[in-house]
Amino acid sequence: MTKNSKQILELINASSEHYTAEQIYQKLQKTSSKMAMATVYNNLNSLYEQGLIRKVTMEGESARYDKLLRHDHLVCRNCGKIWDLNLGDMTGSIEEKSGVKIDSYDLKIFYLCEECKKKES
Ligand SMILES: [Zn+2]
Ligand SMILES: [Zn+2]
Repeated sequence: MTKNSKQILELINASSEHYTAEQIYQKLQKTSSKMAMATVYNNLNSLYEQGLIRKVTMEGESARYDKLLRHDHLVCRNCGKIWDLNLGDMTGSIEEKSGVKIDSYDLKIFYLCEECKKKES
């Protein structure tokens, strides 16, 4: 793994945020390793292809990158903010109910976050 890849991977693993490529680029500008935007994109793609990070995609939004550790997502349907939620690994029970062997699943639970609730009322 290259030094750049390693640095990006560490940034993603250390954070509970769900950064877009743009945000990762901006974070790296504040450190000693200033990477070009294209370098950030290339490294993110290679980390994803190697199965070292997850990609969270939402319609009409840039992809966000996330750590591999099994967890699910609570997503605000208004502002799109993502929170980690750990419901445990449901692979076993999904396989039991569906009768098929699954590779992976991606669960997004939509709700209205506190801030958006305040704005609406
Ligand atoms: Zn919200
Ligand atoms: Zn997450």
